[in-house]
Amino acid sequence: MHHRKRILVTGGSGFLGSHLCKRLLDEGMDVICVDNFYSGSRDTVLDLLKNPHFELIRHDITLPLYVEVDEIYNLACPASPIHYQENPIHTIKACLLGSLNMLGLAKRLRCKIFQASTSEVYGDPEQSPQKESYWGNVNPNGIRSCYDEGKRCAESLFFSFHRENNIAIKVGRIFNTYGPNMHPKDGRVVSNFIVQALTNKPITIYGDGSQTRSFCYVDDLIECMIRFMQTDASVTGPINMGNPGEFTILSLAQTIIRLSNSSSTITYLPLPGDDPKQRKPDITLAKTLLSWTPTVPLEEGLTKTIRYFAKLLNI
Ligand code: UDP
Repeated sequence: MHHRKRILVTGGSGFLGSHLCKRLLDEGMDVICVDNFYSGSRDTVLDLLKNPHFELIRHDITLPLYVEVDEIYNLACPASPIHYQENPIHTIKACLLGSLNMLGLAKRLRCKIFQASTSEVYGDPEQSPQKESYWGNVNPNGIRSCYDEGKRCAESLFFSFHRENNIAIKVGRIFNTYGPNMHPKDGRVVSNFIVQALTNKPITIYGDGSQTRSFCYVDDLIECMIRFMQTDASVTGPINMGNPGEFTILSLAQTIIRLSNSSSTITYLPLPGDDPKQRKPDITLAKTLLSWTPTVPLEEGLTKTIRYFAKLLNI
C-alpha cells in the first residue's frame, strides 16, 4: 500500500500550527496535531477535523508521547509575552521538557525535526539587522527570560542531539508573524491594534512607540518552514525566518487605523520590562539555502488580517 507521509505538529492548533497543519494536508500528508490548548484553541482546527487524514490529540508535550511519524515540527510553546509570562515555569518546561521529549522521539524514529526557535534569542539586540551569527543580548533573569532562555536552551538541546546522535535538526528563528487565526486576545501587537481599531477603542502603544519590529505574513512564514524541512540533513540552521521590512510600533498603529477606517485614538502605556528596542532579521541565509524570500508586503497582509478579524468579530 502507498504510504502517505505522516507528520507530527506539536502546538498544531496554535496560530502558526493551524496554518502548517492545513498546508501539510493540502500537500497530501497525514497530520497528527498535538496540543494542550493552553494558549491555542480547537477553533483554529475545527475545519480540519472533517478531514480523515487529520488527527487531533490533546496532550502536553512536557510528558512523553509515543507515535509513529516521518517528520516532526515542534511548535508547542506559548509565544505571546502575556501568555508565556502567565506561567513562566510551565513555559520553561514546554521549551525544555517538550524539546527533550520530541528529540527523544526523533531519535527513536530517526526522523527530521524542526524546532520553532525565535528572534527572542537575540534579546534586546545591539546589532541590526540580526544575523544568525550574533549571540544576542538577553537578560537571563528578567520577565522575558522564561521564554528567551527556554528557547536558547532548546537550541542547545537540538544541537547536542545533532552532534551526539546525528539527528537531522532544522532550527528556525521565527521573527514576528501575523495573519488570520491569531487569537483576538493573543496580546501581541498586530492582533491588539486591529481589534482595537475595528472596535474604535484607543490603540494601546507601550512606551513611546519608537521601538521597531519586522512583521512577516503567515503564508510566507509557512512556506519558509516547509522549504527548510525539505533540505537535506546538512542544513541544520539556525536560520532566521521573517520579513526584513522594519516599522516603528507608532507607524504600525497609524497604518492599521488608516487601513481599517477607524476613529481610534492612540493612548500611551508604560513599556513592559526588557522590551527589545529594535528587531529586523538578516535573511541572507534563508534566501541562499532555501531560495525563499517573503512576498507579502505589510499593507497587503494587514488588509487580509483586518478582514479576518472583522468577520470574526461580526463587524
Ligand atoms: N506593543 C504595544 N501595544 C500592544 C502590544 C504590544 O505597543 O498592545 C508593543 C510591545 O511593547 C513591543 C511590540 O509592540 O514593543 C511587539 O510586541 P509583541 O507582544 O507583539 O511581540 P514581541 O516582539 O515584543 O515579542
